[in-house]
Amino acid sequence: MRPGLIYFDHNATTRMKPEVARAMLAAMDQPRNPSSVHAFGREARRLVEEARTRILDSISAHGYQLIFTSSGTEANNLALRGMKQVKLLFSAIEHVSVLKSQEPDAVIPVTENGVIDLNALVNLVNRFEGKVLVSVMLANNETGVIQPLAEVVRIVHAAGGLVHTDAVQAYGKMPVDMKALDVDLMTISAHKIGGPQGVGALIAKKNIALKGEIRGGGQELGLRAGTENVAAIVGFGLVAMQVDHHMQKLRVNQMIRDRMEATLKAIDPRVQILGSAAERLPNTSCIVMPGVKSDTQLMHFDLAGIAVSSGSACSSGKVETSHVLKAMGLAADVAENAIRVSLGTENMQSEIDRFCASWRELFQRAGAKEPAPTYEEAMVA
Ligand code: PLP
Repeated sequence: MRPGLIYFDHNATTRMKPEVARAMLAAMDQPRNPSSVHAFGREARRLVEEARTRILDSISAHGYQLIFTSSGTEANNLALRGMKQVKLLFSAIEHVSVLKSQEPDAVIPVTENGVIDLNALVNLVNRFEGKVLVSVMLANNETGVIQPLAEVVRIVHAAGGLVHTDAVQAYGKMPVDMKALDVDLMTISAHKIGGPQGVGALIAKKNIALKGEIRGGGQELGLRAGTENVAAIVGFGLVAMQVDHHMQKLRVNQMIRDRMEATLKAIDPRVQILGSAAERLPNTSCIVMPGVKSDTQLMHFDLAGIAVSSGSACSSGKVETSHVLKAMGLAADVAENAIRVSLGTENMQSEIDRFCASWRELFQRAGAKEPAPTYEEAMVA
């Protein structure tokens, strides 16, 4: 990381772990096409299959099918675009790679805490007589709110339907046990926890019939043609071996996340931490600064050398209110004041202190109605 800069945007992507970069470089040192029958090809195949096993182990999905893709986005598309004979139900807070993969037959609402409305799910599943594929993410990328997936699976399976979960943000940040969850399809990706970008995976129970969209060679069980990205797959496999360690380190950082939230609330009680009434990932905080728009905040923090992101999605040059915050019922003038802070394993208390001081400085200048306590005073309180 560049000295002096603070990176608080780990839900967007993370710095690659040095040992992952080293393993990838080593993998790139030889020609590696896993479909070739000669010694080079066989070694490439061994590397790919070793990574596959490591990843399946990391989510307790031994014996399931795993298809490597170019991203979490592609894995979501592979899961959701192939099943024509079922009705598609997406939660309202899914990532755009789910929401835009297909037009859903119905959208499942969430409560004001950002948790899926299970009663609404029951009604929708009944309306479609159980012939459904339901996609509910394990943890949300903007708020970090963890969804009651085991309950979702129980409801949908009891009616005869299937469940896909986008676990891109959950993977490596909370325990993910695919067999215990009994979910039918799961998407994961490597780059949110120190792995490479440009590689993802769809994991599915053996009996799920998938339909690939990329035609050509017979790679990945004929579901995803194209020579495998061996180096990235090796990096993914290494990250998979480290998920427990990664989780433990993030759990330590939950303390500094919680202290940050308490400090900001002590500066002004009107500060809102969205989704904080629900169970959340240990690294994510969606913070509303009263009276100050998120784009003003982003600029301010950027000038201060602190990288955070807004809850708004910037598409075709215009900043739109986040669909996640909208689905939680937030008024537009509140949602547009939300920023996301997402910590990584290497962040430190001193960085949080700098952020809180900078936050307080902007708030005092642009949002406060009366003199706010300093962040040091707020921290003691
Ligand atoms: N799903 C969620 C919840 C995400 O946060 C992201 C990335 O931000 C994706 C899917 C897409 O993953 P990828 O960047 O690997 O395409």
